[in-house]
Amino acid sequence: MTKQRTQIAVLTLPFVGNFRTTEWMDLGLCRDSAPEIFFPSDGGGVEKARKICCRCEVKDLCLEYAIVEEIEHGVWGGTSERERRRIKKRRRDGAA
Ligand code: SF4
Repeated sequence: MTKQRTQIAVLTLPFVGNFRTTEWMDLGLCRDSAPEIFFPSDGGGVEKARKICCRCEVKDLCLEYAIVEEIEHGVWGGTSERERRRIKKRRRDGAA
């Protein structure tokens, strides 16, 4: 998926019935990695996941999904829980 197509897909996170589709997850590089990498117990562990995420073609979709679904735990789209909280705050502040 090209960056432009990924950005378009993020803007239109698809719904099927009342649920967002998660088909993009099948393209995530993390599917072949140990889940513990993406749910590290310390901040240093985030870097290991981030290195995988930065090469992932569905990174933008993944991040948007985690924000929209308010997923608090783990590394999604290359971001930690703290980083996603900051992104959400910036969006709230920007919308005000
Ligand atoms: S961005 Fe990271 S967590 Fe998200 S699908 Fe890709 S590898 Fe998995």
